[in-house]
Amino acid sequence: MASNSILLKNGVALIHDANDHVVPTKTSILIEHGKIAKIAQEIAVPEGVEVLDCTNKILSPGFVDTHRHGWQTQLKGRHANQQLLEYMVHGFLQSVQFSPEDVFYGQLAGMLESIAAGTTTVVDHAHITRSPDHVKLAIAANVSAGIRSVFCYAPMMFATKFNPLTFHENPFEDWVMRTFDELADSAPFGDGRVKLGFAFDLWFLPAEMISGIFAQVKAKGIKTITCHGNTALGLNIMQPLTNFGLLNESIIISHGGALAEADAQLLKAAGAFVSSTPSTELQMAMHGPYCFDAAYKDGGVTGNSIGLQDNAALGVDCHACNAGSIIAEAKLGLQSARNQYNEYYLKQDKVPSSLPESLSVEAAFNLATVKGAEATNMRNEIGRIAEGYKADLVVFDAMSPSMVGAAQHDPVAAIILHSSPADIDTVIIDGIVRKKDGKLLPVRVDESAKRAVGKDVLDWTSISKEIVTSREKMQKDMDMIDFGEAYASLIKLFQVDETKLVV
Ligand SMILES: [Zn+2]
Repeated sequence: MASNSILLKNGVALIHDANDHVVPTKTSILIEHGKIAKIAQEIAVPEGVEVLDCTNKILSPGFVDTHRHGWQTQLKGRHANQQLLEYMVHGFLQSVQFSPEDVFYGQLAGMLESIAAGTTTVVDHAHITRSPDHVKLAIAANVSAGIRSVFCYAPMMFATKFNPLTFHENPFEDWVMRTFDELADSAPFGDGRVKLGFAFDLWFLPAEMISGIFAQVKAKGIKTITCHGNTALGLNIMQPLTNFGLLNESIIISHGGALAEADAQLLKAAGAFVSSTPSTELQMAMHGPYCFDAAYKDGGVTGNSIGLQDNAALGVDCHACNAGSIIAEAKLGLQSARNQYNEYYLKQDKVPSSLPESLSVEAAFNLATVKGAEATNMRNEIGRIAEGYKADLVVFDAMSPSMVGAAQHDPVAAIILHSSPADIDTVIIDGIVRKKDGKLLPVRVDESAKRAVGKDVLDWTSISKEIVTSREKMQKDMDMIDFGEAYASLIKLFQVDETKLVV
């Protein structure tokens, strides 16, 4: 799908100034060769250019999701009332149900849900490394969707069967790092939109082995490495990152968890980032969300805060648990942090009379845009509307039932507090329109997936039908599992301290 010249005419563009304040500006934007070529009130229409009338529209930078497990679409809905360890059994370990083709459709639908919600870049913690074909079709799905992404290749422990719960005996069979090498040598994919990153959570492996793996990752020049942070399982991620000398600007820790003050200072000094995922963190006892300074002790009020807001961004985490919208996560994180700030005073029988700038809708908007770009080391390419930047843009309808009134008064407030994906009229990634008139456009199946998928072009209706068929097949197998027994086995295998579990 070629990138055309497009003129977005007469919209209100959300343009960041030198201090990262958002300045709503009535203007037009010319897109050429996948980039923002010109921003000006009057732009002569070059020949052959597609013109989108953006009167009564807000033009926003595309949103950046810094922590996502893209493959899990067929698992959506089943974690509504679950804690983390339950999710592990009913969700993460259910990758056993996924054929490579199931992964393709799960991943494709997950990425299209993101695009429909205005996300243009995703850091995918792709823990679906069950075989080379699983990984290759997952990458092909990201390419087909048209999203910009860092596909973080994730060697993993995976279940091979349940009752009794059995894991594959060797997470590092020869093919695992050989496939990584092959992918690293042929990356990036999809005209440069899909880069290769690395994801790692197997800190229980022998130290020499971990050092060897990361030497291999470093040798391939991988720029983004992501790891799950502190969780209910009691891991302090800062220890292995420090011990193995891995803490630098390539690191994104998902879920800040119970970071100590000294850890936060180390993280900031290294230029590493935390990705907060408010929905799953609030639901599943993962502390946080730590993306706002107010989330730390004393609501960030007393100056004792270990705040990481400068080194934080947002993620959806599991779209099987919650909507795949980074704007929804920004709103939830913001209101949760405001609650923590207010509670600090209310507990002292005082009432705060205003909110600090760090808890503004602009701060939430920035976590979802410029901070996401910094976390992914793409600060000079994405996250803001500026000439020379990638043409990753989201067009909101300022006259919709949700937006009207708010959009004219404060477009950033309208997006963070009032919008839903239904208010997003158009999404452009790399200069290519992926959503138009409120509808996802059909996708061209990447060459590498055509044989497995058997189709050249897929529209949303056919993709959604494939998801339903695929999940019905999986559900039949899941109905055979004794989940109580599987949960008990997981607790034993992970050596969870059962005295800490509240039943
Ligand atoms: Zn995660």
